[in-house]
Amino acid sequence: MEKRIYNFSAGPAVLPEEVLKEARDNLYVLPGVGMSILEISHRSRTFEKIILGAKRNIKTLLGIGDDYTVLFLQGGATLQFSMVPLNLMFPENKADYMLTGVWAQKAIKEAGKVGTVNIAGSSEADNFTIIPKQEELKLDPDAAYVHFTSNNTIYGTEYKTEPEVGSVPLVCDASSDLMHKKIDVSKYALLYAGAQKNLGPSGVTVVIIRNDMLTRSRDSLPAYLNYRIHAENDSMYNTPSTFGVYIIQLVTKWLMKNGGLDVMHQLNRDKASILYDYIDESDGYYKGTARKESRSLMNVTFRLPGEELERKLISEATKSGFSGLKGHRLAGGLRASIYNAFPKQGVADLVQFMKDFKSRN
Ligand SMILES: *Cc1c(COP(=O)(O)O)cnc(C)c1O
Repeated sequence: MEKRIYNFSAGPAVLPEEVLKEARDNLYVLPGVGMSILEISHRSRTFEKIILGAKRNIKTLLGIGDDYTVLFLQGGATLQFSMVPLNLMFPENKADYMLTGVWAQKAIKEAGKVGTVNIAGSSEADNFTIIPKQEELKLDPDAAYVHFTSNNTIYGTEYKTEPEVGSVPLVCDASSDLMHKKIDVSKYALLYAGAQKNLGPSGVTVVIIRNDMLTRSRDSLPAYLNYRIHAENDSMYNTPSTFGVYIIQLVTKWLMKNGGLDVMHQLNRDKASILYDYIDESDGYYKGTARKESRSLMNVTFRLPGEELERKLISEATKSGFSGLKGHRLAGGLRASIYNAFPKQGVADLVQFMKDFKSRN
């Protein structure tokens, strides 16, 4: 079999090897079922167990109570940019948004089609290298909700704690960091995440919604865009991404087997510090682009002295089995995405490669 290389892609991204192997075995025939996981009905007993298992695992890992519903939808985080305002902006018809990067910008653009958006905090003037400070926020106490992006995948910044928003419902795009650590879900009215960063394959989106929010969804909404309809139908209003949900079930099982989210958080901190520490010790050859206090544990963004050298490093790294290090086209530079499933050894090996590259160049 072909050797696996280190995958630093921002998404779709690396998955646990154990998960891939189990999926490979079940791809041809699910034990006791006689059909592939790709071939079974979403109404079958087998799939019912899979989707219930995935929901239960997510609730257990994050410590979510019965006052929340977990949904598996499609359309990526991008559809949530529209579904959130369409369902939740009423009755005030205005909402607060934090502008911390490109994904936040896109969420704001869609919300602006539904109602009035107040930019309650922004790091645009700092080229999105920081997270806005609590004391700088201009929150509207009458906003229908406050929306923020917990991890800014492109710029490599993350909120260390949730913004404090009083009694206004808090909504979070957690696409690139959900499940990288334990969070207090009771602070949130809604969280959403496209699965392809830290949870599974593309094609499935996890939405965690507090049940009282479901009453905001109006009957006049198109059925697919209505959270309440998805909740009432246990995410089976239409055919869900059966394979996506199945992989999420395996990934969450893997997380539980490996000690849960506190263990994962420590591992993520360890991995990120191997890389950030070396960047900081490289005498300015490598420069982290995010401010230290806002650095992401998931996406490590950095630059070299000049784009020529950046291209050279990416090309040599690719030949040496380090894939996906090119930064997002809007940010430039380099980005190492080191989600839950990314092995610690791979980070250490990248640092060794960067040391060698520096001494050669
Ligand atoms: C990747 C990403 C998105 C877009 O996700 P899609 O599933 O492609 O719609 C949105 N927000 C964040 C924070 C992301 O990382």
